[in-house]
Amino acid sequence: MSVSATDVTDVPAPELEPQDGVAIADGLQRLWTPHRMAYIEGAAKPAHPEDDCPFCRIPSLSDEEGLVIARGERVYAVLNLFPYNPGHLLVVPYRHVPDYTDLDTDEVAEVAMFTRRAMAVVRAVSAPHGFNIGMNQGAVAGAGIAAHLHQHLVPRWGGDANFMPVVGHTKVLPQLLGQTRKLIADAWAR
Ligand SMILES: [Zn+2]
Repeated sequence: MSVSATDVTDVPAPELEPQDGVAIADGLQRLWTPHRMAYIEGAAKPAHPEDDCPFCRIPSLSDEEGLVIARGERVYAVLNLFPYNPGHLLVVPYRHVPDYTDLDTDEVAEVAMFTRRAMAVVRAVSAPHGFNIGMNQGAVAGAGIAAHLHQHLVPRWGGDANFMPVVGHTKVLPQLLGQTRKLIADAWAR
């Protein structure tokens, strides 16, 4: 069956061209967070960026309040408030710098040692099958807090990316952050 010109003109013209992608649904829900444009644009930088930075503020909190796992000389380890998996932690230098190349040699060394220790401790506590370790450098690469460098350590289990996040758009986290923090912090101290 052919479509006549009359049939086509009966349909109201779309306001946007196909390349705008308006008709392509990917099945994902959107969480609109316009306040995060401040990070993306870097426009709303206060005079002292540290004042607005959670990674600068956390060390002044108690371990329990800040979900701090361990404190070193130049870096600390803290649970991610929005974990991909239980035990997802961050190794963070105290200094408010955005880029890996901003770290001095001692800081690079302590980030590495803390990452290694964290891997051993999380393995002892919860026996993950694997890890993802890495840094997102810049907002475009996925850094939520791009202004303050941090290294992710995400324990992985076979089947942890199962149907729940894919179909249900829900991440199941069977353990509260406070409990996770205590487990890992106690193991770190041993
Ligand atoms: Zn900071």
